[in-house]
This record gives sequence, structure tokens and C-alpha cells, in this order.
Amino acid sequence: MDNFNPTNYSLTCVATGREFEDAGWTLDDVECKTPSLVRTKYAKRQLELRDDSLGLYKFADWLPVERMLEGSSAPVTYRSEALARHLGLSNLWITLNGYAPKHGVKMRTCSFKETEAYSVCARRRASGDDRVLVVASAGNTARAFAQVCSANNIKLLLVVPTDNLSALWFTEPLNDCVKLIAVDKGGDYYDAIHLSNMVLKSSKFYAEGGAKNVARRDGMGTTVLSAVTTIGRIPDYYFQAVGSGTGAIAAWEANMRLVEDGRYGDNLMRLIVSQNAPFVPIFDAWRADSREMLPYDMKKGRRDAELINAKVLSNRRPPYSVAGGLYDALKATNGDVQVATNAQAARACKLFKELEGVDIHPAPGVALASLIKMVEAGSIDKDACIMLNITGAGEEASKMGRELWYLKPQKSFSVMAELGEVIQYVETLF
Ligand SMILES: *Cc1c(COP(=O)(O)O)cnc(C)c1O
Repeated sequence: MDNFNPTNYSLTCVATGREFEDAGWTLDDVECKTPSLVRTKYAKRQLELRDDSLGLYKFADWLPVERMLEGSSAPVTYRSEALARHLGLSNLWITLNGYAPKHGVKMRTCSFKETEAYSVCARRRASGDDRVLVVASAGNTARAFAQVCSANNIKLLLVVPTDNLSALWFTEPLNDCVKLIAVDKGGDYYDAIHLSNMVLKSSKFYAEGGAKNVARRDGMGTTVLSAVTTIGRIPDYYFQAVGSGTGAIAAWEANMRLVEDGRYGDNLMRLIVSQNAPFVPIFDAWRADSREMLPYDMKKGRRDAELINAKVLSNRRPPYSVAGGLYDALKATNGDVQVATNAQAARACKLFKELEGVDIHPAPGVALASLIKMVEAGSIDKDACIMLNITGAGEEASKMGRELWYLKPQKSFSVMAELGEVIQYVETLF
């Protein structure tokens, strides 16, 4: 993948509108006094699709990338027939992220976290900086970054709770530029974040940045670029299950760029985001019409997080109230938050498999269940143009008949681990 000219773009602070250059890995506007996301502004106003063989990088005009990496796959959008007929919808479009070769999508880690990972990891040049990327995650994000970094020889330190290690399966062994440390049994995602923050006190490491990383959001925004360039117009509705809501923020941002593009209409898709009941902090804040998340009851939260099947949705600190975050995205698009139970989501997954022939994760089952509920309640126009973002799929298909390989931690730390001990250990790892 030589001969690639880095994409031209600048950054804009959402809160102040200040435009400035990306220093390479800028996550915030240092001059901004209030919490705000920064956004990319691409030099090319109109998106030109590149060759399909480039995978995700067919959308490189609108990705903040310095280079292209090997092994990526772009999301694929197609018009639903069987599911649409079943629901009585005339204009339902499915955007698939995952492993579904018959639809031309082969994300080996089976979720749209791979769109983030390929975009984020390509934001940096191949040489000139020897620091190690740090990603704390409970599952799909860690898998996606591990796969991408392994395939492209990028140094990565993952920080994952011991209880989530079973999520780190691969179909082949990883390159040893990818290392993993764990938090002892009982520790959760937030303990992993705490441990990763200690690692980041060392100058040998740098933070991925999560929702603040423009590459992450613009990577996820390719789902909407896929849908709109396939459909030929901006849809009326966007359905997605959310944990952090980063994907929905990204969808809104991609939508605004497509309006500027001028060829797809000036629609703003109504973002309909869903959570898996009983873990519904975004729903609670939205129903209370509150820009701030409501006070979080740790005990209840942990219990609820354990009860839900779509574990990837159990985020308790989403970028909701920050300027340009999920609250703003929902307000701007006249969006809404829905919920679905495990049982409703399971029924939706089964229906999707039967009618569309692809196994999907519990999370997109939550999104589909919400769509079904709105159809049944008569609260959605049956001829509306609907984009259903299937955020993870094909896990059964990709595991079938394959020997699985699990990433093992180099070391596990207590939740009480001390900074000195952590730094001393991780600095010798690479
Ligand atoms: C992470 C994830 C989500 C939630 O996405 P956010 O943008 O973080 O809200 C939904 N589905 C799947 C399969 C995921 O991995």
C-alpha cells in the first residue's frame, strides 16, 4: 500500500469553533476551557470512493490517516428484502459490520470496532516514534486493535479485566508486538482504565483516546458513508445499539459532511439509539431531558451490567454531555433513546438469522428489537428510508471449524497495584 498521500484535514473545536492543525495525535483543543470534542474538517468537500480492494481505506478522503494498513474491510450496505417484508417496511437498508463473506464483508474480529482500529492505527506514521499504543477495553475493542496491530507490526499494550479474557480469541496466533496485562479477577473495565492510566504516566506509552480520537469516530462514520453512497441519499433514520454512543456521534458527523458534499440531500438522520435493559444510563438521562448523566448507583450498575447479554453496551461514562457528544447529537437530529430486554434482543437476533441468513451479536439484536418495537407501535413511517447498523456479525461463521487461539496476559495486577510497580514492569515489556 505505497504511494498514498496522507489525507488533508484540519481540526475544529466543537465548543469554540477554533480551527487548528493536528499535531499528529491531538485529542483536545488545548485552548478550549470547557469539555468539548474536536472534529476533523477534510480538505475534500466531496467524497471520492477509492478502489474496493483498499478495504476501509476506500473512504480515505474522510479518514484522518497518514497511511493505509493491510487486512481491512469496509462496512457493506444492502437493501433488505426478507426482514423488510416481514416488518412491512419498504425502504430498509442494512449496514453490515462483521464476517459475512457472501455480502463481501470480512472483518475478522467481527465488529465495527475494526473500523475504529484501522482508522486510529493509520493516523500515525510508520516511523519516527517508538512509543507504545495503550488500549483499555473489555472485549471487541481490544480484539480489533490486537488484530490490526499484529497484522501491521504496531506496538500495542492492551489492558483488560481477567474476567473478560475469554473475549480475546483469534483464529491465528498474534505477532508479539501485541502484549496484554490484566486486572485481577473481580476487577472490571474501570479498573482496567485505572491501570492503563498508570501505564500512561510513562513517556514510553501513549493513549488511544477513545471517543476523543477523531480517527476513531471517523472510522465508525464509514458505516454511514457506506450506507449513503450505496443508497444514493441520506436515510431518514439511523438505528444503533449504544454503550458509549461514539458510533452515533460519528454517524451524525458523517451525516453533516455528506450534507456539505451536496449530492445526497440535506437530511439529518434521526438517530435512534438503543440500550439493553436493565443497564440503561443513557436512556435515563435522555428521558430526564438532562445534559448531565444522572448520579450512578455503583452497586445497581454492576448488577445491571451483569444481567445484560450485550456486554459491550455496559459503559457507564459515555461521552454524552461533552460539547459535540451524544446529547448534542440526539438533540440536533431529533433523535431518541430506546431500550430492549435480553429476550427481545434474542428474538431479534433469531429473526435476523432466519430472514437475512447472518448471525448477529446481541448488541445489534438490541437495535433491531427497538426498530421492531417502533414498527409495532406505529411510530415509524413504513416507507421511511431506514439504516440499521448491524455493528457485529458473523462470529459463529468465522469461528466454525477453526482452532481458536487466546491472547494470554504477561502479568495480572491487583486493583490496588502501585504506580511504581506498574511502570517498572511495563517499561521492560517492549
Ligand atoms: C462497541 C459496540 C457497540 C456500541 O458502540 P458505541 O459506539 O461504543 O456505543 C455496539 N455493538 C457492538 C457489536 C460493539 O462492539
